[in-house]
Amino acid sequence: MNKHKMITEKGNSRMLMLFGQLEKLNRESMLVDPEIARQITAKILHLIQTQEKTRKEIVSKGSSGMEVILATLENTQDLQSILNILYILNELLTVGGGRRIGVFVSKGGTGILLQLVISASKESPPSEEVMLQLHSVLAKVGPKDRKFGVKARLNGALNVTVNLLKQNLQNYKLLLPCLLVLQVYSSNTVNAVSLGKNGVVELMFKIIGPYSKKNTSLLKVSLDTLGALLKSKTNAQRAVVHVPVLLYIYQDWHRNDTRHRHILIRKGILGCLKNITNIKLGRKAFIDADGMRILYNTSTECLPVRTLDPLINTSSLIMRKCFPKNRLPLPTIKSVFHHQLLRVPAGGPVAQLYNQPLGMDDVVDESDNNEDAEAENDMENEVEEKDHHAGNDDIETDINKLRPKETHSRPFEELKIYERFFMELSEDFQVFNFDNPKKGVTATPAAPKSHRPIIVPTTQALPPKNPTECPHPAPVPALDLDTINITKDQDGCGDHTHSRPHPGAGLEQELVQGLERVALDGAGPQVGGGGGNKHKRQPPILAGGVAARLGGEGEEMLAEDWAEEEESSEEGVLHVPDTALLLPLHDPDLYVEMVKSTSSVPQFSEVAYPDYFGHVAPTSREHILERVYGVQRTKIFQDIERLIHPNDILDKVVYDLDIQSCPVVDGGESLKFNSQFESGNLRKAVQVRKFEYDLVLNSDINSNHYHQWFYFEVSGMRVGAPYRFNIINCEKSNSQFNYGMQVLMYSVQEAISGRPRWVRTGTDICYYKNHFSRSSIAAGGQKGKSYYTMTFSMTFNHKDDVCYFAYHYPYTYSTLKMHLQKLEALRTPQTYLREDVLCETLGGNSCPLLTITAMPESTSNDQICQFRNRPLVFLSSRVHPGETNASWVMKGTLEFLMGSSPLAHSLREAYIFKIVPMLNPDGVVNGNHRCSLSGEDLNRQWQNPSPELHPTIYHTKSLLQYLAAIQRAPLVFCDYHGHSRKKNVFMYGCSLKETVWETNISATSCELHEDLGYRTLPKILSQMAPAFSMASCSFVVERSKEATARVVVWREIGVQRSYTMESTLCGCDQGKYKGLQIGTRELEEMGAQFCVALLRLKRLTSPLKLRNNAHLLDVDSDLMETRCKVSSTPSTYLLEDEEASFMEEVDYSAESGDEPDNDPNTADPHDNHLSDSESNNHRDSLT
Ligand SMILES: [Zn+2]
Repeated sequence: MNKHKMITEKGNSRMLMLFGQLEKLNRESMLVDPEIARQITAKILHLIQTQEKTRKEIVSKGSSGMEVILATLENTQDLQSILNILYILNELLTVGGGRRIGVFVSKGGTGILLQLVISASKESPPSEEVMLQLHSVLAKVGPKDRKFGVKARLNGALNVTVNLLKQNLQNYKLLLPCLLVLQVYSSNTVNAVSLGKNGVVELMFKIIGPYSKKNTSLLKVSLDTLGALLKSKTNAQRAVVHVPVLLYIYQDWHRNDTRHRHILIRKGILGCLKNITNIKLGRKAFIDADGMRILYNTSTECLPVRTLDPLINTSSLIMRKCFPKNRLPLPTIKSVFHHQLLRVPAGGPVAQLYNQPLGMDDVVDESDNNEDAEAENDMENEVEEKDHHAGNDDIETDINKLRPKETHSRPFEELKIYERFFMELSEDFQVFNFDNPKKGVTATPAAPKSHRPIIVPTTQALPPKNPTECPHPAPVPALDLDTINITKDQDGCGDHTHSRPHPGAGLEQELVQGLERVALDGAGPQVGGGGGNKHKRQPPILAGGVAARLGGEGEEMLAEDWAEEEESSEEGVLHVPDTALLLPLHDPDLYVEMVKSTSSVPQFSEVAYPDYFGHVAPTSREHILERVYGVQRTKIFQDIERLIHPNDILDKVVYDLDIQSCPVVDGGESLKFNSQFESGNLRKAVQVRKFEYDLVLNSDINSNHYHQWFYFEVSGMRVGAPYRFNIINCEKSNSQFNYGMQVLMYSVQEAISGRPRWVRTGTDICYYKNHFSRSSIAAGGQKGKSYYTMTFSMTFNHKDDVCYFAYHYPYTYSTLKMHLQKLEALRTPQTYLREDVLCETLGGNSCPLLTITAMPESTSNDQICQFRNRPLVFLSSRVHPGETNASWVMKGTLEFLMGSSPLAHSLREAYIFKIVPMLNPDGVVNGNHRCSLSGEDLNRQWQNPSPELHPTIYHTKSLLQYLAAIQRAPLVFCDYHGHSRKKNVFMYGCSLKETVWETNISATSCELHEDLGYRTLPKILSQMAPAFSMASCSFVVERSKEATARVVVWREIGVQRSYTMESTLCGCDQGKYKGLQIGTRELEEMGAQFCVALLRLKRLTSPLKLRNNAHLLDVDSDLMETRCKVSSTPSTYLLEDEEASFMEEVDYSAESGDEPDNDPNTADPHDNHLSDSESNNHRDSLT
């Protein structure tokens, strides 16, 4: 399209003519009479003012109009011509948006104008009209020219504008364009520092003022300019003295701007306060000037008007920042439970912990104190916005670390002892009795002396039970399943039935008597809450009964009362739900029996009711909670009220494990808490207000952080009262509690009414940064980090109830042992099941290893050969104790594998399964979130596990090394985990190619030959398991994961299909369960589907003759294709546990300039950074 040919109108041809004349003048330069230039520019101006089309002409493509105008401006000395051109430019650039200005900037217009500013300033006096017009044009151009600030500084124009302002403070006409230009100057950090030195901060305070209807645009621009200047810490220091003024002005506008016409001015004032309070002196000045109360009151008054939300949000942000940092109410952040390590790791956090001087206060953060010294080191040099390639930092780029590790580090002789765990590979069944297969299969091999494994006896080899002797630590007595009965008490020791309530007594009070807890205690019933340090009890043994405590009134029953109770309830028939019938793998009595052989560091003597009764998954759907608008703000305001109305705060400690005699609370005024049972985690509870409690979680043992998992008991509640619970020492920067996840609650009253279940509960749930400071020790050496609060509200439905709250569905080590025993009972003559003890843990618990496959059909050579040569599948789970969902998935897997369905039978015939269902029993028992007793994350020890510190990992890896040594490396390895910050179930795998693609490693991809088989299993799962999402899978090898099971098994053992399977703790945002929170039924289903997927995988990986047996499965043809080409879904690069920061109301990123939250170099190693793709994923999930 040729615009020139389209121009036929007179005006345009005239315009072209005028430009021609002007161009000619420019060439002849000074020789010409300025009058001619004046006339021509005046004519152009006239045309432009009268005909819109002429303006378009000047800036249209191919037109040289702009160049001619600028050249004239550069050359002429004539004031009137200059003014004419400035008028032309003002006309031109007022409309047309950014494009016209873009043309202007691209032709070098900014520089010419700035030069003109300098030369005009040298006239004395400078022409006011020229300055006015110049700044008007600059004010239009500035915001669109990215280099404007730098150009202005280099041209020396900053001070011209500043001086102009200083001399014309009453000249409002000139003031506004100058201020607009100054605002743009100030947005550049270097300029801001330099302008501050020239007194511009003070200057702005001369312009801004209390409420007035006049000059509001001037005021607005001044405030914005000031706000920009105050981003510099030196400028903020200059403004500290003005904090009271700003607060006064803010209140004045708040009072007088009744129709809310000037929200932007009010926001501008808050913006200044926000930046001043980024420095410590500013925060102090704010507190001293009663800023908290002022902003709290004004915000409260703004609450009813929705349009004022920006003001409330900024106020809230300032108040949170200024809220005095508080120390956690703890003597130390180290775990309250102590387990002395016999060998302390040479370096790392555990060694640091052991080297910490005695009596050192590790709760407070001293590093925060010298922060303002840094203010003087403001950036004087141009620093471009740092580009954070956060997402890519962690990808492994060392190609050698992505290639299989060649050397086998251990000699075969050393591995040979593991042969005994693989009897199926040599079993010839010649002496095997096919009618009574249990005998042949479960014979357990002798243990090597070095790591003295405990052998769990089977039903064939039970020692007689002796309830008066402590069987700890070994050998563990196991139960004959036939003798267990929920309503009978044959051996006279597991006498919990007696404490169970009368049937139909009609009085709930009575029902609860004695139901408060099941306890195992050699000294008889527990007496009083203050009777010594509970967590240093004797090892639990069973001695004749259940401790009973009164439900409502606080005092526990004394032994005599308890005996009476026992007498009086002698004839009572149990009316608790018969969970043994409801739940095929659950048996309360067996559970108690299992607890007796579980060793805990605190030596727990109590059993939590949910674990005892069991959990029956509810049939109703539990939707992902929709977030109610303003919840977080309301909660934060309630927190701020603690400071505003300190007299309303009770601050009453009602539970405290750090005190020898954990406080007993008085009658009825407070809730009672307890967490002293297996997997329990609650360190302290403080009643803040009548119905509000601050809760503090315990660190992992031998560590001073890692808290997220919680599990505790609450009683003494009032029906219908609005309780609020705040867990105040959360560490992660974000949580699924901000995205619809609820906590889990188990009500004993509900259970005895026939609904024994964990339910998702709680309202007003949110997760936010709080005012408790995290010491640099707890934050891994960084200063100034805050803890986070997870808050939820709750009303209880039953009087005298005992309720349990948990982060996720609990699954204790004793539960696992119970399930394994029940599974053994499911064995048929066709099933080969062997349970070995892999090793003993640091805490004295045994780590079970299961072998499941099908018995050979006969002892014929062919059959035995087929039996021995089945490919292996190696599964493990629960290395992270807080990821209880992994155990529920594993339960689903085990139940399916032991099932009687034809698919299960085919599966057993197809593979030999080696399963370590709980890699970290000690962590699970002791209520840890992440670590084992060694204080370390076991899933970071796979590269070089220590037999002393990480026995379960050491021996599991040895099993795999043994398999590799005998050329029987498993076909699939999968470690089940739970994911706290993402939805759905998904897998992480390992691919050399996909890792290389994510980076810029110069290796040409044609060198890399890689079978795409690693994608098949997740692809199958995505087609059959409703919770599974292929889009969330990743096959990239990260540096931070190089010591995880997945990466080590892939690289060192050579298992191509080596995976981590992550299950959400929250719920699904795709598939059949979209919008629902995940429950145990879905998790168990996932475990079962995993098995079915393995069967499909078998069809796809087997020689053709085996595929003919595919009568039970429909093999999708497209699955075959996925083996040959990578699916079109790109591999999403995902770093561990993160979901995008929640931005609803409080912009964390803008919260405080001196908190290094967004700096990838100092970020918490446990809070991995987001890659773009992940943020996008999240955005999608919100829509
Ligand atoms: Zn995990």
